[in-house]
Amino acid sequence: MRNWMSMAMGTVSNSTLFLSFASPIHKTIIPFSLTKTSPYLISRRTFSVSSLPSLSADSNFNFSHSGDGNGVAVSTRSSKVLLKGMTYPELEKWVQSHGYRPGQAMMLWKRMYGNDIWAHQIDELEGLNKDFKKMLSEKADFKALAVKDIHTASDGTRKILFTLDDGMVIETVIIPCDRGRTTVCVSSQVGCAMNCQFCYTGRMGLKRHLTAAEIVEQTVFARRLFTSEVGSITNVVFMGMGEPLQNIDNVIKAADIMVDEQGLHFSPRKVTVSTSGLVPQLKRFLHESNCALAVSLNATTDEVRNWIMPINRKYKLDLLLETLREELCLKHNYKVLFEYVMLEGINDSNEDAERLIKLVKGIPCKINLITFNPHSGSFFRPTKEERIIEFRNLLAEGGCRVFLRPSRGDDQMAACGQLGKPGTIQAPLLRVPEQFQMAVGSSM
Ligand code: SF4
Repeated sequence: MRNWMSMAMGTVSNSTLFLSFASPIHKTIIPFSLTKTSPYLISRRTFSVSSLPSLSADSNFNFSHSGDGNGVAVSTRSSKVLLKGMTYPELEKWVQSHGYRPGQAMMLWKRMYGNDIWAHQIDELEGLNKDFKKMLSEKADFKALAVKDIHTASDGTRKILFTLDDGMVIETVIIPCDRGRTTVCVSSQVGCAMNCQFCYTGRMGLKRHLTAAEIVEQTVFARRLFTSEVGSITNVVFMGMGEPLQNIDNVIKAADIMVDEQGLHFSPRKVTVSTSGLVPQLKRFLHESNCALAVSLNATTDEVRNWIMPINRKYKLDLLLETLREELCLKHNYKVLFEYVMLEGINDSNEDAERLIKLVKGIPCKINLITFNPHSGSFFRPTKEERIIEFRNLLAEGGCRVFLRPSRGDDQMAACGQLGKPGTIQAPLLRVPEQFQMAVGSSM
């Protein structure tokens, strides 16, 4: 272990690295750094800090879609308006600005999102005015994504790989459930800046945000491709690649489009946006959206959370939980979902269970205990099933509503925390706190 660490430390060539990201509403610096002398544990792969542009959203935002000057998203590939990047009021306004009636806009909306049509091209717009269709073919694009590949796991979970206009690839997962509910797990960014240590996507760093059209279309494709096979797709979770609340404008807009009653008509309670804990954006989300919120908690002390979820160095557990306590008082009949990935020897002790009960006290919530899905380069181990059940029982005895979420799709790298494809340059693994080095070292 010691040799391994010192070998890795010697590969840092610059003096300091700050991982930074820009949010639409403010710029935040995640306060951790790599220095030549600090004993951080980093990837075995040799890299220089100066060659890590993909970790910084500031330096590498490359939106594939721009605006048309009226706030309408335009494809840079075709210079046409992206229909799925518009809410219904925006679409209606755009249609009227081209001399057509609102009724035509509603017919178009219903063909794109409703009535089991999910139109992807002009030929599928039956019943629309001929001139209107001609205008659409000249000025509008139906698709922001192209299917690259589909993998099916042994448990029926599907992973769709989509190519974006700029050639980048994202992943979307369809999770059928025997209780008549099928969930689509959508990505909100290409990669992720948050660098959660247990997550494969985090190893990629952040490439760029997805547009609202790219997010919405993942759900449209899911219904179009799989409804006849797996039944109605009823739930959406923003738990794919990316930190949704770092891309909050596009995520709120996409969620609004998904819940429109004349269109995709997902229930707001069944559209869940998950965050690692960006507190200001979380507050904004609770004020502006009526969709559900999940918070990825995963630790009961700042020490552990600072390590496995570096965003905690900016927004500590107390602040995160106090904010939720205050904000949820103002919401009627609303529960937050806490996600807790079970890592053997790291966050699964009886003391963790006791602390967790205290931490969530007074917050209307449910807790999902999630089986950790290993991936290459990860040194964590999943907590054994018997221990997860003991942990669950302790929480339940402490008055928590708690559920177990078993792994789905892991044989196709489609499970929680397994999405994406880190390149040769990866986000750094952080120093393991001393008391966990045995737990981590024994699994290597
Ligand atoms: S767990 Fe979520 S927020 Fe954390 S690195 Fe992975 S994708 Fe990003």
